[in-house]
Amino acid sequence: CGIVGYIGPREAGDLLVSGLRRLEYRGYDSAGVAVVNGALDVRKKEGKVDELAKLLDARPVSGTVGVGHTRWATHGPPNDVNAHPHEASDGSFAIIHNGIIENYGAIKKRLIEKGYTFESETDTEVLAHFIEDVQNEADLSFPEAVRQALTQVDGAYGIVGISRDDPDMLVVARNGSPLLLGIGDGEYFIGSDASPFIEYTRNVVYLSDGEMAVVRRDGYKVFQIDGAPVSKEVHALEWDL
Ligand code: GLU
Repeated sequence: CGIVGYIGPREAGDLLVSGLRRLEYRGYDSAGVAVVNGALDVRKKEGKVDELAKLLDARPVSGTVGVGHTRWATHGPPNDVNAHPHEASDGSFAIIHNGIIENYGAIKKRLIEKGYTFESETDTEVLAHFIEDVQNEADLSFPEAVRQALTQVDGAYGIVGISRDDPDMLVVARNGSPLLLGIGDGEYFIGSDASPFIEYTRNVVYLSDGEMAVVRRDGYKVFQIDGAPVSKEVHALEWDL
């Protein structure tokens, strides 16, 4: 439902939570964050962003790259386990996802036959394990595994992923669910709309359907999910909040 991402010099946890609060108007049933700092730390909770904030008070996260999500359940009831982010089996990456993976049933069946197990009932966890499988089969980088997996996925999605093993990167993809990059000074933001980051930057790049971005601390690259590079304009937002 709502997506926020951050990479830069600031602590990501607080920034992600305040970004999620800005997205609360969209409606949601659960919320979560993942932050990388050597390990991949995931905190997620059914209910309001306040519930997630309480969990983070009790079990803080630290790190300067992270993702946050508010979920509007489509596959599996609202509960802590079905909340996003969803991780690879070995905790090497996490993704958040807006939308629906239409062919998740067929993919899940194949993955179960290969020995994958599932904790949640979501289509999103199926995508996480599918990316993992594509990555392991061909020893791919995380962004390349996301790209190749998405060429085999039907549905509408906005996705942001972070990798424990490459902590200087956010991987972003869009098909039928809005996503934009906020271009700051030495930092980048992701949002399903600009509200989570409007206080930090007004310079944005709108991803189009079928596009991906790899966002690093020192720059970003946009390309099509089929691999072709795309050059994007930076737009200056004028609206007031
Ligand atoms: N289909 C996903 C789920 O049910 C994502 C829902 C959303 O857009 O928040 O977990």
